[in-house]
Amino acid sequence: MKENKESVKEYYYKNKEIILKKNKEYREKNKEVLKERDKEYREKNKEILKEKRRIRSGAQPKRIGRDPEKHKKVVKKRLYNWRKKNPEKIKVHAILRRALKKEEIFKSNKCEICGKNENIEAHHPDYSFPLQVLWVCRQCHVKIHRGKFNELIMVSC
Ligand SMILES: [Zn+2]
Ligand SMILES: [Zn+2]
Repeated sequence: MKENKESVKEYYYKNKEIILKKNKEYREKNKEVLKERDKEYREKNKEILKEKRRIRSGAQPKRIGRDPEKHKKVVKKRLYNWRKKNPEKIKVHAILRRALKKEEIFKSNKCEICGKNENIEAHHPDYSFPLQVLWVCRQCHVKIHRGKFNELIMVSC
């Protein structure tokens, strides 16, 4: 393989002038066809070429294959399915929201597990008590639902 490559290189260098001339001749002769082919290529790869230009000008590469519209639809559908499956949870969440708005209860600004004060969410150990919630950060909330604190906290949502 390497030998082959080398010989191609050698051949190219030896006949550079001739090859270049031939290439030029070929291009001249097939100008229209090549132009047409180029146009077709550009048309077919419009999005990719556009993205390449964008990256060249310093932009972050997009994740190819993720259609934002499609993604939005998937998220919406997932939410819809969850709502359909969990009507009682929706009711409880509404009660909680109302109580917060009326200032019957107050949201803690600290995670009751780790003490962090970012992304605080309500966790319901028992849905029969809508206003008895545990205020936890998102990370701890995920951990609760993964069963990390099973001895400490009942899992409901
Ligand atoms: Zn936490
Ligand atoms: Zn929860």
